[in-house]
Amino acid sequence: MMANSRQIVKEVNNATQLNEALSLVVDRSKSSMDTDACSVYMNDAQTGQYLLMAAEGMIPDAVDNVRIKHNEGLVGWVAAHEEVINLSNAADHPGFLHIPEIGDDSFHGFMGAPILHHGRILGVMVAQKIEQRCFDNEEVAFFTTLAAQLGGTIHHLLAKWDFTRQLYSPSQGRLFIRGIPCAPGVAIGNILLSQPLDLQSIPDRSAPDADTEERAFKAAVLATKQEMHASSKRMSDYLPGEVLSLFDAHIMMLESDRLNAQTVARIRNGQWARGALRDTILELAQVFEKIDDPHLAGRAEDIRSIGRHILIHLQGGGTTSGEYPQQCILAGTELSLSEISTVPRDRLAGIICMNGSALSHTTIICRELGIPAVMGLGDLPIGYLEDCKIAVDGNQGVVCINPSPKDINEFKQRIKEELVISAQLETLHDQPAETLDGVPIPLYVNLGIGADNMEIHADEHEGVGLYRTEFFFMSRNTLPTEDEQYALYRNLLESFAPKPVTIRTLDAGGDKILPFFSIAEANPFLGWRGIRFTLDHPEIFLAQLRALLRANSGLNNLQVLFPMISRVSEIDATLALMDRAYIELVTEGQAASKPQIGAMIEVPSAVYSIAALSKRVDFFSIGTNDLTQYLLAVDRNNPRVQGFYDNLHPAVIHVIHDIVQRVHLQNKPVSVCGEMAGNPASALLLLGIGVDSLSMNPSSLPRVKWTIRSFTKTQAIALSQKALTIENEADTHQLLNTALNDVGLGALVCANLMSS
Ligand code: PEP
Ligand code: MG
Repeated sequence: MMANSRQIVKEVNNATQLNEALSLVVDRSKSSMDTDACSVYMNDAQTGQYLLMAAEGMIPDAVDNVRIKHNEGLVGWVAAHEEVINLSNAADHPGFLHIPEIGDDSFHGFMGAPILHHGRILGVMVAQKIEQRCFDNEEVAFFTTLAAQLGGTIHHLLAKWDFTRQLYSPSQGRLFIRGIPCAPGVAIGNILLSQPLDLQSIPDRSAPDADTEERAFKAAVLATKQEMHASSKRMSDYLPGEVLSLFDAHIMMLESDRLNAQTVARIRNGQWARGALRDTILELAQVFEKIDDPHLAGRAEDIRSIGRHILIHLQGGGTTSGEYPQQCILAGTELSLSEISTVPRDRLAGIICMNGSALSHTTIICRELGIPAVMGLGDLPIGYLEDCKIAVDGNQGVVCINPSPKDINEFKQRIKEELVISAQLETLHDQPAETLDGVPIPLYVNLGIGADNMEIHADEHEGVGLYRTEFFFMSRNTLPTEDEQYALYRNLLESFAPKPVTIRTLDAGGDKILPFFSIAEANPFLGWRGIRFTLDHPEIFLAQLRALLRANSGLNNLQVLFPMISRVSEIDATLALMDRAYIELVTEGQAASKPQIGAMIEVPSAVYSIAALSKRVDFFSIGTNDLTQYLLAVDRNNPRVQGFYDNLHPAVIHVIHDIVQRVHLQNKPVSVCGEMAGNPASALLLLGIGVDSLSMNPSSLPRVKWTIRSFTKTQAIALSQKALTIENEADTHQLLNTALNDVGLGALVCANLMSS
């Protein structure tokens, strides 16, 4: 009976090291099929060869010693063709290469399957038979399914293996890694790990003092237990007994001998407490995972969760550890708004993130705060970075771990260049945003994210093009009251009056989760988002509208913008609520004033509703972040598909051009408030396409102003017309970057954050 490949994958997923995972693969494959040998060859990026890393049933010394060049032998053939081969006699194949070190004279039947991850070949799995016979259909199906399923895990472990090899190499771990450039600027500092880390990313480390480690482990278990007791007590008024008993089950697990004794034994064997905890938890979880029962699989998840809780206490308890160093570079697998805001702004020099993308709201926060950031670093084993020195280049999307003195000098030089650019940008401070031929284009600022931490320099800006109200809602544990909202909006409107302030109503959903409102959806970006949510909650929406109308009274500089409009009926329902709020306020004798009304164009259906929407609204604002994701069907937050997300895709350029034409036909103004407006190259394009204003993060504004002041409107129009004839985005990037270079703005090209 052939083993279930899913079961093997589960076991492999628990491995923390590449060789451990590969040994499991060959062992389980060999015992599941009628075969005499199984082996795995991995692509070694350092040597450009395939290295035999695990084998069962052949000469053991061959492991870690046999290397095959690319395109050589049957392994090279499988890798190059990215397909499975099943041969009765390997030697008959034209690609066959005799490898005496593995004793291949004795083998005849040969099956090879590629291990791929996102189209990249990682290695080749091989099964061999002494007998001259092909593998049967069931075996081929099993083997290929296993190889296909293993891609993700093997990729992760391979990256970790590669990384640790370099970290402990003679170059003392100096390592350059490329990610996605997300917020401009350069910084050098020390890594500060955000918490909680996941267990698998804990590195092996030997501890000099086992007693100290044991004490730390026991204290962490005790603290976790106390936390569970406290949570259970706190929740006892709200949760039924059967749910509360889950806390007891977790406490029992914390007290279990297996967890405690096994971890202490590992510590006594020389592991540090975190590594010992990792091994015990993963081993216990595996016991449950092996049983093919969904309920018991759930227990495995409970065990992991308990492990993570203990880990948090071992790492220093709940918040980022210890004192914040000067110049810290915050690192995390994912980073939330609250994790970023925990670090004092004057200590936070840079941010690196394993996941994340150029358009996530974490990225937008970094830009707004002016913190250099690189995201999408992939499978970097973050736990190994603790205490490392690091340099971050948010313009190029490069991080250097353990930089050499020469690297540090180079990064310092880049920081100096940045300062020169900043000084140049400072000189533009009082200059108008107008083209060389005197055409003005208003540049507004986007606010809302982290605005509470920042002083708003209203006198320096022409107005606010987008105030994202959701971050005010997200930073709290309850809904803000009407009065609290009134105070916030009034302060904003007063600071800028008489300049316009565009406040967008609550745009919750997608990746903007209200902490007090749990919404679980399979496709949140296509789900209950923006106006769909607020229209379903008139009590929330009305409070916001009332606060806005009151805040506008006597100032009349408010423009209200509605997010995620996909149909006319949404605007009708919204305007009806706005009227209701106004009448209520007037009836109550409260001062209120109706604002200008705008609709976001960020859902493709809205583009084709512009004529009808124009009868109802005063202005439009294009949300290119969402419009691009919906038009190209690319999740703006998914690093796997980041390569497909590009604001300069010809379809995006054509649709923006179309929107501007349609809106102008209705004699209404249209602005762009997505990240595209804050990028010098794409801002130039938008100027040529004819948008009426641009709104961006304050930190992007000087660079965009510099760009606008370096071109004539006629040049911008010519560039946009050329862009409309281009068939793929790479050529448009080139067109715009060359244009920037030609007028001496090459320094801004590297800040071209949207290019992939
Ligand atoms: C957009 O989608 O372009 C936009 C400005 O809104 P947000 O990024 O908040 O979704
Ligand atoms: Mg949006």
